[in-house]
Amino acid sequence: MDARTVYQNLERWQKETALLGSIAGVLGWDQRVMMPPKAAPHRAEQLALLSGMIHQRATDPRIGEWLSDLERSELTQPSDSVTAVNIRQWRREYDKLTKLPTELVMEFTRVTSLAEKVWEEAREESDFRLFQPHLERIVSLVREIAERLGYATEPYDALLDEYEQGMTAQEVERLFEPLRRHTPELVAQIRNAPRQPDTTILRRHYPRAAQEAFCRLIAERIGFDWQRGRLDPTVHPFATRLTPGDVRITTRYYEDFLNPSLFGTIHELGHALYEMGLPEEHWGTPMGASTSLGMHESQSRMWENFVGRSRAFWEYFYPIAQQHFESLRDTPLDAFVFAVNAVQPSTIRVEADEVTYNLHIMLRFELELALMRGELQVADLPSAWNERFKAYMGFTPPNDAEGVLQDVHWSGGMIGYFPTYSLGNLYAAQLYEAAERDLGDLHAQFRKGEFTPLLEWLREKVHQQGQRYSAKELIERITGAPPSAEPLIAYFQRKFAPLYGV
Ligand code: ZN
Repeated sequence: MDARTVYQNLERWQKETALLGSIAGVLGWDQRVMMPPKAAPHRAEQLALLSGMIHQRATDPRIGEWLSDLERSELTQPSDSVTAVNIRQWRREYDKLTKLPTELVMEFTRVTSLAEKVWEEAREESDFRLFQPHLERIVSLVREIAERLGYATEPYDALLDEYEQGMTAQEVERLFEPLRRHTPELVAQIRNAPRQPDTTILRRHYPRAAQEAFCRLIAERIGFDWQRGRLDPTVHPFATRLTPGDVRITTRYYEDFLNPSLFGTIHELGHALYEMGLPEEHWGTPMGASTSLGMHESQSRMWENFVGRSRAFWEYFYPIAQQHFESLRDTPLDAFVFAVNAVQPSTIRVEADEVTYNLHIMLRFELELALMRGELQVADLPSAWNERFKAYMGFTPPNDAEGVLQDVHWSGGMIGYFPTYSLGNLYAAQLYEAAERDLGDLHAQFRKGEFTPLLEWLREKVHQQGQRYSAKELIERITGAPPSAEPLIAYFQRKFAPLYGV
């Protein structure tokens, strides 16, 4: 068989597996958005059956044979051609799946699904000791997984690579270092600033129907295509692409707090626009998929914070907001813009503002790294958490529920995931700077309600590239510089110094 035919066989096989995955995606969306509670046990069986079928297909030995043939063919050249990228990324995926023995995967699934239930209970009772033995088991399993997957320098690299291809612990340490030096100082300046925002503005009465109408209007003006997507309410918001013509976002509404629906929607919209912008003809292959979690987060953060929290954005949208919400009619634009940009150290990561958010991430990254390096024992995690938290934020969390127990990630075995949130912020700042170099004054465009130039720029530079390059390579190609914290630090300074008058 010639290489072209082998490639077509493999591509057909992988696209069918992707189709099965998209069926699971529809069931998963339904489970989180629509399904009545009593459907849960049967739905779990449906999803388990599908995921078993998908796993079996994804680890079929024929894939290994096809790949070996292809790797000796001319289809791997040039290295950034569609076929070369797909072959390289299919290999990566296949190796990851087949390097782990089935017993290890099953044990990991068993331990983490039990741990998630215990974690919920532990968090409710704010009692870390309940969760401790489960986390100890998870850390040792994750270490074994890292050994099996292999790494260049240290086990954490293998975990990170799952979420952010090619990124290493050392590089994340290097990237976070300037943020660690600058952020606490900026936060202290802001705390002692002469001007402070009135955040009660956002806690007035905001009728749900008006919130929904306003969120839809924003999504549409920015570029969300209702022919290819939906917006629905849910408890834990997310974005998901089921097929190229079906990208769905979700949000939540609180009538006494405007932020969650508003900025939650813009955040998920950023994720959705990435998914809508991926090359449709490559759907079901790596060339048609997003390149990393960090890059994904850069898109959501850019629309949420760099665009959606800018004064220029609100110069355009605020009069419309005032038509929607009676609560805002007597509030001047500047008071509103200041309120949505309030910086306030808090215990809970998911409620953090864009400046202190990275401190939450650094804290988790440092603890994960110490755990994986064997420098920290799980039993000592709560005290290590509180110590570091105090050093970064200036106070200690009142209890473990609002401290070490607040996130679901570790109970699910997701160690190495947290850094991608802050990498997203770093990438967003770098991309935004580069976009402004290419497109001129973006704020002048936002003021007129023009978001298409930025969206089209992102489509061409980021979305259309699929997995052609890793996030790290893509940032370097687009911006001319490797990943760096400097643009984010400069952006914070530029934005928050005038707001707070510091
Ligand atoms: Zn996100």
